[in-house]
Amino acid sequence: MMRIGYGGIRHETNTFSTVPTDVAKFKQLLYGEKEEVTIQNTGVRSYNGGFIDEAAAQGVELVPALFANAVPSGLITREALESLRDKLVSYLLEAHEAQPLDGIALTLHGAGVADGYPDIEGEIIGAIRKAFGPDMPIGVVLDLHGNITPEMVHGSDVLLGVKGYPHVDEYEAGRHMFRILTEAIRTGEMPKMRLVKLPWTFAPAKAMTVEGPAHEIQQFCLQVEREEEDVIHTTFFHGFPYSDIEQAGVSVVTIAKTQEAADEAAQKIAAFAWERREQLISKTVSPAEAFDKAEALVTDLPIVINESSDNPGGGAPGDGTHLLREMLKRNLPKTAFGFITDPEVAKQAAEAGVGATISCRLGGKTDKLHGEPIEIEKAYVKGLSDGKFVLVTPMGAGTAMSMGLTALLQVGNVLVVVGSVANQTRDKCPFEVMGIDYTQMRILGLKSSQHFRGWWQERSEIVPCDPPGIHSGDLDVYDFKHLNRDQYPFVMDKTWTAESILR
Ligand SMILES: [Zn+2]
Repeated sequence: MMRIGYGGIRHETNTFSTVPTDVAKFKQLLYGEKEEVTIQNTGVRSYNGGFIDEAAAQGVELVPALFANAVPSGLITREALESLRDKLVSYLLEAHEAQPLDGIALTLHGAGVADGYPDIEGEIIGAIRKAFGPDMPIGVVLDLHGNITPEMVHGSDVLLGVKGYPHVDEYEAGRHMFRILTEAIRTGEMPKMRLVKLPWTFAPAKAMTVEGPAHEIQQFCLQVEREEEDVIHTTFFHGFPYSDIEQAGVSVVTIAKTQEAADEAAQKIAAFAWERREQLISKTVSPAEAFDKAEALVTDLPIVINESSDNPGGGAPGDGTHLLREMLKRNLPKTAFGFITDPEVAKQAAEAGVGATISCRLGGKTDKLHGEPIEIEKAYVKGLSDGKFVLVTPMGAGTAMSMGLTALLQVGNVLVVVGSVANQTRDKCPFEVMGIDYTQMRILGLKSSQHFRGWWQERSEIVPCDPPGIHSGDLDVYDFKHLNRDQYPFVMDKTWTAESILR
């Protein structure tokens, strides 16, 4: 019976965040050692859930090592990265010594940055390669926002990412990667890969794959896979500009039976994507503009205004007040915000109790960029909760999440969900867990860039807004220290041809 060790360390690091990421942050979201990893992921639509189901389907023995995943936030501490890395490697070695492993499957992100380690995935893959030697097959599944480095690709035998943004295909990507890895082990033929790094960076704000240019690129990747017999898999990685490292940017990774096929597919996809670069430039949209647009919409569906710039799913604090301030100012009937993070106010509401009226300073406490605290004179405490729910969106359905101690405040006409632990809103749960029936609402505010679309796209009209913040689509506002500025759109007339990659 084939025996595969698995695990990983996953983090999308927004180096503009002032909130450091330590081991406690990983333990707060998702952390498991050995059997815990399999227990946490069984029946879940996650990458690891994909490994588990594919292993079961193939009759492969899966040996869990360590899996740690934190909500995107600031730089990972050196201590956290080194201790998690060492644990992952030692648990894999322990499993290998008990009975030899035939391969290793890793779930990583691609945009993790630690103090002293600008490329944590390259570091982790390298550490495992060093411990197991050149002959151990290593497969890696990554997020589409990975800033892919040569170290990641050269250190592994199979490396691919999700194709969807929202990442509704994490489970399928996990299964697919696992299938390619086990097939390679069975045949003894490792596939060939090609990495192309384009001189291009774009923000997530306009890059959803449900429609538009990123959708066209995604479809082209699928077309290449269908039409080219020797091509096994292709990924167009969007990259993550808020990880301020030299290697941040767009890339293509292809996997094929031959090097020629991998090269050719990478070249084609890179050229196709590069032609669409202008369409992915994003500029600021104020909450007032978004509300004007929302109020003018004629629709029976609820309208969702998403605050992209304070997306905790991209490392922003989640306590920004730009959109909520506008919502309170307009004070329209049937409006709700789900949710803003402010543990102080949630606690204050809990102490006052349901039915009480409090005055508070809400949000805006992490930094100045995302808006000043909102002074609220009268907030009625309508409900309280432990903030726990289980995701229903296709992206991660079955995953247990928590907003921590959560209060539902009514401020004028507006219902405001105030959580204690930052995270992005992916589906209806942050509203529903507080008793808000979203179908009865006219306008809903939430913090997310695209992942909320995995659930909301079909159930609402969407109006994006992008006020100042560390996850803004407008890259001109960032003071990049390391990112290579000799790329598009910093250099608007940057020239590049995909032909150049093969030299
Ligand atoms: Zn992502």
